[in-house]
Amino acid sequence: MSRAGDSWGRWPLPKDQRLWPLRRRDQPLPADVRPLLAYGQGRSYGDSCLNDGGTLLLTRGLDHFLHFDPGTGVVACEAGATLGEVLEIAVPRGWFLPVVPGTRLATVGGALANDVHGKNHHRAGSFGDHVRAFELLRSDGSRQVLRPGDALFAATVGGLGLTGLVTWVELQLQPVAGPWMQVESLRFDGLDDFFALSAESAGSHEYTVAWVDCLARGKALGRGHFLRANHAAPGAAGQAPGQGLSMPVTPPVSLVNRLTLRPFNALYYHRQRARRRAAVQHYSPYFHPLDGIRDWNRMYGPNGFLQHQCVLPPAQARDAVAALLGEIGRSGQGSFLAVLKEFGDRPAPGLLSFARPGTTLALDFPHRGPGVFALLERLDAIVASAGGALYPAKDARMSPAMFRAGQPRLDAFIPHIDPAFSSSFWRRVME
Ligand SMILES: Cc1cc2nc3c(=O)[nH]c(=O)nc-3n(C[C@H](O)[C@H](O)[C@H](O)COP(=O)(O)OP(=O)(O)OC[C@H]3O[C@@H](n4cnc5c(N)ncnc54)[C@H](O)[C@@H]3O)c2cc1C
Repeated sequence: MSRAGDSWGRWPLPKDQRLWPLRRRDQPLPADVRPLLAYGQGRSYGDSCLNDGGTLLLTRGLDHFLHFDPGTGVVACEAGATLGEVLEIAVPRGWFLPVVPGTRLATVGGALANDVHGKNHHRAGSFGDHVRAFELLRSDGSRQVLRPGDALFAATVGGLGLTGLVTWVELQLQPVAGPWMQVESLRFDGLDDFFALSAESAGSHEYTVAWVDCLARGKALGRGHFLRANHAAPGAAGQAPGQGLSMPVTPPVSLVNRLTLRPFNALYYHRQRARRRAAVQHYSPYFHPLDGIRDWNRMYGPNGFLQHQCVLPPAQARDAVAALLGEIGRSGQGSFLAVLKEFGDRPAPGLLSFARPGTTLALDFPHRGPGVFALLERLDAIVASAGGALYPAKDARMSPAMFRAGQPRLDAFIPHIDPAFSSSFWRRVME
């Protein structure tokens, strides 16, 4: 099991953290164990959910539902409830989360603090766009109910947990006919096809995303599978999701290496003979395939792994994605999961929100020593020269300059920070 107080990438490991479980939302914050940082489920990959030398306020005990109106789809719950718990209550009553990231194990508070995005960003924007209100507890003991339009609302949505503790959140859900998704998978041959498919699907499909074979080179550069989906119409039904598997122990070495990566990527690309395949699928394996393998992060071995997720402005995206994939292909340090998606152009609700108009590429790399850090810096240079940004929720090593360059509203955010809150990430990028 992943340990409370760790991050999902398992690098860096936390040092000298005090864990402070919260049990009630009216509980005062501890006074003498600062700096403080809320911690949900540690589904952030790097150090944005870590607080070396400080205290993590474990929110998972705050998992009560305050109200749910099946007539309007307005739900309010404590911030430690997981997105999966919201779905369990909402879906049988004909409602669905408006934005879901690739894991249902994130908490509502964590989803708000990283203003997470899903495969429907081009239609629905990010998580914060659907938050109607939340309560923020500050270290001076004050509690404020914040709504869109409030300055502290925009600072807290995507605010990396630095403005205080969110105790409960009220969300607007979206109506659905049932738990089924109408999914289509299209094999494509290269990056130009990806952009053409994204443009073609944006109007017809609520959810779009692509998996890319990041070790293919030459003409095959950027080949992959494009997945597009809608919530299925009433009456549709497919196969119920099976029981999950789990990674029983952390193997002594990473199972993700040169020997496994190339065949995995090639096999995945060729898994579908037909160019197009359509199916009705339950929402759970469609949105959260990795949650089906509990603790899959362990397969990277005891040194953990690093994720690199960038967003690239529309005009530079095509060439910059090609440059990133070219660099990775040459390095031979591929990724098991290379995910490509075009964001929509809705303005972000948070001052530090990551999702913005452009194309996002997410890649995982096993931590195999200095070589991977050198590669990630080369990738950063490509992102920086294209005017892009990295996602703090996935980061464990970007430089302060890279962070600042990706955050044009940083100066407006800083005055809203609660002086008793901080994180390992924040101290690293603000040094
Ligand atoms: C398999 C997988 C797939 C993912 N897919 C996506 C994706 O598609 N899109 C995406 O955007 N992200 C994705 N993520 C990242 C994940 O959704 C975010 O990192 C999310 O914030 C994790 O939530 P958490 O509850 O685990 O929060 P944690 O990781 O524990 O904390 C994250 C941040 O939220 C803050 N925080 C948590 N609770 C509170 C609170 N109550 N009050 C104030 N601040 C709080 C913390 O201080 C920290 O800064 C994925 C992660 C995994 C493991």
